[in-house]
Order: sequence, then structure tokens, then C-alpha cells
Amino acid sequence: MIRNWISKSIAYKLTALLSAVIIITFGIVLFLYISLGKEFVYRSSQYQSAMITRTIYDLLQLTGKKGHTVPPKEIIEEIAGASGVDYITLYDNQGRPVVSSRQPVRSVLSSAELSRLKSLSYDSSIMQMSAKTIDYTAPIRLYASCQGCHENRARLGFIRVSSYYSRLYGHTYSTAKKFGILFVTIIILFSAIALSIIDRIVVRPLNKFTGLIHRAEANSFLPRAASGSRDEIGEMESSFNLMLSRITQLMATSVEKERELISAKEELKYKDILMRHSEELEQVNRELEESVKELSTLYNFAQYTVSIVDMNDLLRIITTTISETLNYKECAILLREGTVLRTVAAWGFDDSAKLIGIEFANDEGISGAVASTGQPVLINDTGKETRYLHYKGQKKTEGSFMSLPLKYKDNVIGVLNVSNNIPNSFTKKDMDFLLSIGAQIAVVIENSRLYEKTKELSITDDLTGVFNRRYMRPVLDKEWERSKRYGKPLSVLMMDVDYFKNYNDTFGHLKGDEALVMLSQIFKTNIRGIDTIVRYGGEEFIVILPDTEADGAMAVAEKLRSAVAGTFKQADGSQLTVSIGVVTSPSEDIDSMGELLYAADIALYQAKKKGRNKIMKYESRYLEEDKG
Ligand code: GH3
Ligand code: MG
Ligand code: MG
Repeated sequence: MIRNWISKSIAYKLTALLSAVIIITFGIVLFLYISLGKEFVYRSSQYQSAMITRTIYDLLQLTGKKGHTVPPKEIIEEIAGASGVDYITLYDNQGRPVVSSRQPVRSVLSSAELSRLKSLSYDSSIMQMSAKTIDYTAPIRLYASCQGCHENRARLGFIRVSSYYSRLYGHTYSTAKKFGILFVTIIILFSAIALSIIDRIVVRPLNKFTGLIHRAEANSFLPRAASGSRDEIGEMESSFNLMLSRITQLMATSVEKERELISAKEELKYKDILMRHSEELEQVNRELEESVKELSTLYNFAQYTVSIVDMNDLLRIITTTISETLNYKECAILLREGTVLRTVAAWGFDDSAKLIGIEFANDEGISGAVASTGQPVLINDTGKETRYLHYKGQKKTEGSFMSLPLKYKDNVIGVLNVSNNIPNSFTKKDMDFLLSIGAQIAVVIENSRLYEKTKELSITDDLTGVFNRRYMRPVLDKEWERSKRYGKPLSVLMMDVDYFKNYNDTFGHLKGDEALVMLSQIFKTNIRGIDTIVRYGGEEFIVILPDTEADGAMAVAEKLRSAVAGTFKQADGSQLTVSIGVVTSPSEDIDSMGELLYAADIALYQAKKKGRNKIMKYESRYLEEDKG
């Protein structure tokens, strides 16, 4: 119970501890005091008894003249009474009590006591403690005066002085008792004062401090300990305050971090949403971009459909527009020409020009297959496709390839090929789109073809296929201008079939027509690509030779004449020849294109005049002759 009570407060504990220390200290002091008191009592009793014994000896000697005048019993009683001892007893040599100040006399000395006493000298004594008394026992000194009456024996007897122990020791006890009471009082007072002081200087501040700790436990970190004392509690408080402020700081940081975390999370959330939206937006943008591209491609095609009729221009525009608008590296168009597919346009290849003219048989390679089946083909990796012919080895790189039919009125008129150097570049969507514009491409190509055909018809001669007179004029105009501007020579040959009327008359007009067709073929095969052959009249032809000097022109004329004369032989033996007039500008007589043709005509006339199957170069004198 006490333990429980003490454990309730540190004040009780400290008080109990201090009290225990004081009690123990006092106990030791008391013990020492009592022990020393006992020793003191013992010693003073011995001294007093020795003094009493001496006095008794003196009195016994004084009264011992011829018997003791005063009986020893009276002396003993007197001394005992005067000195306050309990009693005094005289024993004989055998330890039997002889005289005693108290009746009844105590029993005999024990044999152990007796033998000890007998061994003592006269100056010695023994002290014994009984329950109530301290007994001083010593041999009775045998003085010379005693020897007259008492036998001269070694021992006369023994004297025992018994003092009241309690009386002797009573003082010490009462002092100790007083001390004890004083001590208890002091202890109570001390405890009360100690309790109040400890309560004031330790318990209360500690309680306050504990309250603070409890509040901190309950997450209240703002209150601070404020005892202001400089002791350990004060130090503890300031350490705790420091800790609290650090915790508060930490809490603030943590709150801040938490806020930051929350806002970061929010931000992340919004970022996520934003990312999703931006991805969606990007997707929409991509689709939009693709749509715009597709629309712009369609628009471009639509525009060019109406604006471009020249086939070469058209093919160039189609391939470049597809490549650039749809981001395809390469684009080529192959058109069906009879039984073959011919590459007519190429864009973006390492050497696009080399691809022009490459032909594929029906069903040859991918393009051939697309042309024959009318079905598009998409190859994700040309390196893994054995049917892919790399434009007959002209395309060195591998990648993606797409080939689509160009259909016009259910007929495949050609194929459109696109390629990239990266595998898997094309999707089904790309193919679908290209297919949709493929139809449009087929239409514009067919339109262009029709236009070319019409144009060709309007500038060529129906019978022979060479250019007609209508076409000659702008060509001659252009060449005349060029010749003048750059100072280049320009020659013209004027040819007329000899005696053609006769031929007609002999073989008929139809044969005559056939002969004209054959002659045209001979002319065409014997001139350069830059030269132009024109059917000028019924059986008259003109050849325009740009950048050609007179000698060169004469050589061409001779070549034509001999070719006709040498090769044009009918089975029936009939033969056709041509006469040719040659004129070359610049010449002093010729100032205009009309004059040039006129001069050619004069030269031709001269050739006729010379006998036909001849070539004649214009000379000024012929003009004079003509005038003449
Ligand atoms: P040459 O020129 O040598 O003086 O004698 P020629 O008989 O050829 O005389 P000319 O040039 O005057 O006659 C032109 C003849 O060519 C008249 C016509 O019968 C013939 N001719 C002109 N155009 C055609 C044509 O388109 N077809 C045929 N079959 N004959 C034609
Ligand atoms: Mg003629
Ligand atoms: Mg003629």
C-alpha cells in the first residue's frame, strides 16, 4: 500500500528516499550512541565497582583491628546504599556467599566463575552482564593487616559489586528516546517541507511538462514549456521546446510538402487529362492534316484536270503532287501501250530519268499483275517480295511499295506506283485514298490523250501522218526567229515527186496515195529528231533543218534523194524519184521566211529543169533567171 502511495508522485518518492536516508543515518547514529553508551556504562560501572571495592577494603582495614568493629555486612550495606549499586556480596574462597547487602543472598559462584577468578591477580577483575545487572567480581585483596586475623591464604575470597544495569543505562535510553522523538518530529516536518518544496520545484513543473508532452502526443505542437528555470527540468523544457519547434517546422514542411504533393497530383491529373486531350487533338489534327492533304491533292488534281492538257506536264504534276503532298518518296506512272506497260513518268528516284521507258509485259512483276488483275497490291517490305522487280534493277533501295490500277471506264489504262525507303510506310487508308484519286488520274490522263490525239489530228496530214502545212508555219516562224537571234544557220528542203501525174495515171490514184505514204516513211527515217517534215502540197514536201549549214543541207537532200531513188522500186519495175531544192539562211537575198520558201521553190524548179531526180542549191542567179 505504501509502495503504491509512494509510486504516485515523484515528490513522495524523493521524500521517502530522503527520509529513508535520514532514518538510516539517524539509526546508525543512535546505534552508535547506544553502543558507545553501553560501553561507557560498562566501563564506568567497572571503575565505580573498583572504587567501591577499594573503599570497602579501606573500611574493612579501618574497622579490622581485632575483629571488625563494624561488621562487614553493615559496611557493605552502607556502601551499597551510598553508591547506588544494586548490591554487594562477599564470597569465601570456595565461592560461597558470606555477606551480602541484599537478602536473600544470591547463590554460589559457578565453578567456571570460580576457576576464572582464582586465576586472576589482585589487580584484575571480571565483568559480567546479566539481564538486570552488571556484575563486577574481583579477588579480595589480602592486606598485611588482614593476615593477623585471617589465615594467610592465597585467597581470602571474592567480592562482587552488582550494579543496576537499567539504572546506569536509563540515562542513555532516555536521551536516545528524546532523540528519537525529536527525530520523528524532524522527519515529519522535513517530509512536509520536502514534499512541498519538491512539489513546487519538481512535481509541478514536471506535471506541466508532462501535460505539454501529452498535448504533443495529441498532435498539439504549438504550446511551449515556460518555467524559465535553469535546472535540469528547465534544460529538459528548452530541449523539448526546441524539439517542438523542430517538429512544428517539420510539420509545416510536411504540410507544405503535402500541399505540394496534392498540387503536383492535381497537376499530374490535369497533365494526364491534358495529355489525353492533346493526344486526341493530335489524332484529330493528324486526321485533319491527312484530310487536308487528301483534299488539297484532290483539289490540285481537280485544278490540273482543267488546266493541263499536255501529257508530259500532266504526268509530271501528278507524280510530284502525290509525292510532295502525301509524303511519298517516289512515284511512277506506267501506261498501257498495246500489250506492254511503259513507264511514262517517274519522280523522286535516285535517277528518275533512267526509269522512263522501262516496259513490263502483262503480268510481269507487281505492276504487270496489277494491270492484268485490276487489283491494288501493297508490299510492306520489298526486300521480302520476290515478285518485286525494282523497275528492272533501276531502283536499288528496299522499303514499302504500293501499286494501284488506273481505271478508265472499267479498263485498266495503267498503274500508279508509290514507294518509300522505309518498310511498313503505307496503310490500307493510304491505299484507299490513292485508289480514289487513281480514278481521277485515269480520267485526266485519258482526257490528255484525247487532247493530244485531237491536236495531232489537227496538225498532221491524214494520209501520210507527217505534219501538215498548218503546223509548218509556227515551226518555221520559231526556227526563223531562233536563227536570227542566235545567228544560227537554218536550211529548208523543198521536195516534189517527179512525174507523179504519170504515176497516178498509170497505177491509179490509190496506188499514188500508197506511194505518198511510203515516201513519207522514207523521209522520216532519214532525218534527225529535231528536223521537221511537212506535207506542203499534194506530192510536195518540205523539210526544216535547224542549225544546218548549206553543205549539211545538201547532204541531207542527197541522202533523201538517193534513198527514194534507191529504195522506192515497185514490183512492176516502176520507179519514183524526187527533185529537191535546197536553201540556207542567212543569205543576202533572203530577209523573211516567205523569201526563204520562195528561194527553196526556185531551187526546186532548177532541179526539175536539170532533169529531175536532182538536188539544187539556191543561188541568186536563179532569181534573176526566174525574173527573166
Ligand atoms: P513534175 O512535178 O515532175 O513536173 O510532174 P508532175 O506530174 O508531178 O507534175 P505536177 O507536180 O504538176 O503534178 C501533180 C500531180 O500530183 C497532180 C496529181 O495528179 C498528183 N497528185 C497531187 N496530190 C495527189 C494526191 O493526194 N494523191 C494522188 N494519188 N495524186 C496526187
Ligand atoms: Mg507538184
Ligand atoms: Mg510533181
